[in-house]
Amino acid sequence: MLSKVVIANRGEIALRVLRACRELGIRTVAVHSTADRDLKHVRLADESVCIGPPHPAQSYLNIPAVISAAEVTDAVAIHPGYGFLSENADFAERVEQSGFIFVGPRPETIRLMGDKILAIHAMKAAGMPCVPGSGKPLTDDMPENFRLGREIGYPVIIKAAGGGGGRGMRVVHVEAALKAAIQLTKTEALAAFQNDTVYLEKFLEHPRHIEFQVMADNFGNCVYLGERDCSMQRRHQKVIEESPAPGISADVRAYMGQRCVDACQRIGYRGAGTFEFLYENGEFYFIEMNTRVQVEHPVTEMVTGFDIVKEQLLVASGLALSVRQEDVVMRGHAVECRINAEDPKTFRPSPGRINIFHAPGGPGVRVDSHLYDGYVVPPYYDSLVAKLIVHGETRAGALARMATALDELVVDGIVTNVPLHRELVRDAAFAAGGTDIHYLERRLALD
Ligand code: ADP
Repeated sequence: MLSKVVIANRGEIALRVLRACRELGIRTVAVHSTADRDLKHVRLADESVCIGPPHPAQSYLNIPAVISAAEVTDAVAIHPGYGFLSENADFAERVEQSGFIFVGPRPETIRLMGDKILAIHAMKAAGMPCVPGSGKPLTDDMPENFRLGREIGYPVIIKAAGGGGGRGMRVVHVEAALKAAIQLTKTEALAAFQNDTVYLEKFLEHPRHIEFQVMADNFGNCVYLGERDCSMQRRHQKVIEESPAPGISADVRAYMGQRCVDACQRIGYRGAGTFEFLYENGEFYFIEMNTRVQVEHPVTEMVTGFDIVKEQLLVASGLALSVRQEDVVMRGHAVECRINAEDPKTFRPSPGRINIFHAPGGPGVRVDSHLYDGYVVPPYYDSLVAKLIVHGETRAGALARMATALDELVVDGIVTNVPLHRELVRDAAFAAGGTDIHYLERRLALD
């Protein structure tokens, strides 16, 4: 078992990793910026190291600083959480070259999946259905781009090969807009991801976002842990997630899950991973793979009873998977609401001091949050401040439980999107199940 782990993240996920380490008897090192001295997990960690000023580029993204923290504390491994350096293949490589264990897949795998065009190629080769698209980077050859656009059929979506976090995408409805849209997306992609490679995909108009969770070890064992529906999105970012996905039969789950496992075995995947698909008219289309733990992993944990973060640490310790596929049983239904420090109507970030934080409770209620009374949410980072997750025997039961929990939740001092969640969990179309990825934006546009 790993003796000591550096948690290279902040907020709720750093706390989640800390809790898993504690349960496994692993000592913890919190690395944090100067703005994050009062984070809950920093206070709870066995050791903490300040790695730089608030700006992420100078702290959480500062590779030498993170690796030095592991060196000075005699840690043996680094858990990257999600975001920040979690999908940075160079970081994973340097962690390993420095003699530490990276809690995640091999650097080559991260590099492959981090380039969405290469990822699509690899998945096509593994027999995975993908969204019709250019399958290659777009060049300055506009006649060729027009040809691709016509072949795929409008509307199309231009996507950054190195994109993430819902950024670096632009929908194009008519050929006349294609040239300018390619230029603009390239410029944005270069600024955001230091990579101006873009490609074209058919823009699906009514898909749902359905993703499969997998877990693999170093010995070729791999299981799928069912699927999640993350269709409730704003600006390509998830707002509510659930598992299982409404209307997906056990047969379809087993078929798609097995395809994901096969793909993992083919590329020698290790650790936790997620295959993301768009689902339209009964067909799945692969869009990307995330090579890390996801924000929404708790819904899978609630229905399977399987601890994904602990398993990441066990696999990183060199142990074989603790479950076989036949041991994975999905029970009931789980829903997660992402609680953000932002205005529910304008979506403006709302950092500041928390006067009162009161978490809901009762059977089947889980709160993953680093908030406490008096904590000050800094303005420099992602606005996610809590995840409220509930489990019920049925989907309707889970939604009723979520409505009750949201009514009980108090986050006083800052503005949050809790009022929006209270409306959404009582929304008739959402309650019916199967709303698509554009549903929330259409609904917000009506307000
Ligand atoms: P990121 O890496 O930024 O999360 P993804 O490729 O996972 O980007 O896409 C994020 C979201 O963008 C999807 O869940 C979906 O809502 C939307 N999207 C991506 N590709 C398409 C497409 N071809 N058609 C329609 N929507 C898309």
